[in-house]
Amino acid sequence: MEPSKAKELASLFLTGGGASRKKVTKEQLAETCASLNEDPDYVAYLEEEFGVPAPYLCATFADRAAEYSTMSEATRRRELPELAAHLEVCTDCLDIYRDVYLSAFAAGIQRVQGELKVLGEPIRLVLNWAGNITEFGVGPAALLRLADTSLGAMEALPMAAGETTAEKAWDLLLDEARDLSLHLDIVPGKRARTVEVRFNLTGSGAAAESKMELTYQKEDGTDKGNGPLLRHQTIPLILDCASWLLRLTSTSGTTWEIPLVLNHEN
Ligand SMILES: [Zn+2]
Repeated sequence: MEPSKAKELASLFLTGGGASRKKVTKEQLAETCASLNEDPDYVAYLEEEFGVPAPYLCATFADRAAEYSTMSEATRRRELPELAAHLEVCTDCLDIYRDVYLSAFAAGIQRVQGELKVLGEPIRLVLNWAGNITEFGVGPAALLRLADTSLGAMEALPMAAGETTAEKAWDLLLDEARDLSLHLDIVPGKRARTVEVRFNLTGSGAAAESKMELTYQKEDGTDKGNGPLLRHQTIPLILDCASWLLRLTSTSGTTWEIPLVLNHEN
């Protein structure tokens, strides 16, 4: 059977409902399957359409993850749309991607423009009406989730409106050779639709970074500011729901950029 005919019958069988399904004979279905099995890309596509990660794409992803992590979102959509879709359904690949590529800004893995090192994926969060924070999209894996707190502790917290009931934290490796990491904490702010962001430098390299500077900028440029990290940490930064770029610049001139996307539920 011609591949195009097989695809046509497959979509008729799968999406056409009962009546269309009856039009595809058993023999045709067998021929369709035989023909489509020759086309691993299409089989993978079908599996993912049904929410089943395709092992075929796991291997492709493993081969190209490093390259993928250096691409802009537009390039990914243009050149590797099947891998972007794969990451949405395959927790195995997502875990590897997060562990290996998104906890660090290492050169050659993240985009490096001169001394600017950009985190491979933005941290994307949505704030709900109850003051909890949820992650969405493919971003670096958070350390703390609400489920990590013991049930007793959660019950002890009164659920007043606007009260902090959740926290998100990340450890991002800034410079492995110097043992320098950033501990990032995000909690809902006291005002609605805001968050408080705390930065702490950790690792033995932190002591040498007494003059690290933090800058933050809203993507549309309407709000920005900067300040030093005092004793390796900042006073909390209050950000409203928008897209932000957070940048840390060391005295040696290296800048680490963290895109942060904040949304809220209505
Ligand atoms: Zn996979």
